[in-house]
Amino acid sequence: MAELLDPTTLRHYAQQLGLRPTKTLGQNFVVDANTVRRIVSLAEVGPEDVVLEIGPGLGSLTLGLLETGASVTAIEIDRRLADILPGTVATHQPGREAMLRVLSADAMAIGELPAPAPTRLVANLPYNVSVPVLLHMLARFPSWQAGLVMVQLEVADRLVAPPGSKVYGVPSAKLAWYADAERISTVPASVFWPVPKVASGLVRLTRHQPPSTSASREEVFRVIDAAFGQRRKMLRSALAGIAGGSAAASKAIAEAGLEPTARGETVDIAGFAAIAERLAAVN
Ligand code: SAM
Repeated sequence: MAELLDPTTLRHYAQQLGLRPTKTLGQNFVVDANTVRRIVSLAEVGPEDVVLEIGPGLGSLTLGLLETGASVTAIEIDRRLADILPGTVATHQPGREAMLRVLSADAMAIGELPAPAPTRLVANLPYNVSVPVLLHMLARFPSWQAGLVMVQLEVADRLVAPPGSKVYGVPSAKLAWYADAERISTVPASVFWPVPKVASGLVRLTRHQPPSTSASREEVFRVIDAAFGQRRKMLRSALAGIAGGSAAASKAIAEAGLEPTARGETVDIAGFAAIAERLAAVN
């Protein structure tokens, strides 16, 4: 039995389950072993790692991760998929079953993980919830320091966008609180079953210290949400609601060293943190 899943074997498991992949759960499974090995190699996973995987599905990527000798903690919302995963590992990589922990749960609702704590995150994220799931994993489980996620190409571009870019927005700014992000490769739609409409991108994440500020993450994120909630507006109007008026917003923005007439898409995470700090000081 091959160590990784080929298209025929994957379809066979899906058929046995009577699985009809759903768009709601973003169920597009990787059917190409070379793609799996490329992802695992770009993720730089090694035997010392404890990998957190979201949405293992039929196990394509999970088997690739286990092949390196790493252990894997996998969170899968679809109970049928979660239930068959240990058996799939036992069949394709006998002896490695003990290296896998599967939680059948919604990744966004998970507050605790079994020990040992993850060192890396590697996931082909469910497309419709990729950003909130990623932000939740960053906030809730600070032990992992590096990661590689596969997301829709357009989402990949938004995640890595710098200030000033057309696609810089809430996901880019919030992700920058936690990590450096780099789009390192693309993955064609043809390696998935079912074949999605768009290609995917691989984003490498490297944790860094959040900007140094006395404002809390929640306070900074509130400023980001407000700044992009009214994207075309100048910061002083966009932030008026949370600052208690446009004059108070202007003051906080200027004290943070920024132009009150600037727009949110030009402000980096350190700038948002500085504004939040000034707002917290006066409120
Ligand atoms: N990792 C597999 C692969 O590469 O072939 C499957 C990836 S598929 C894009 C996304 C997976 O995430 C599906 O198995 C789906 O059931 C699961 N999923 C969707 N929403 C989820 C959630 N909120 N929490 C955990 N898993 C979820």
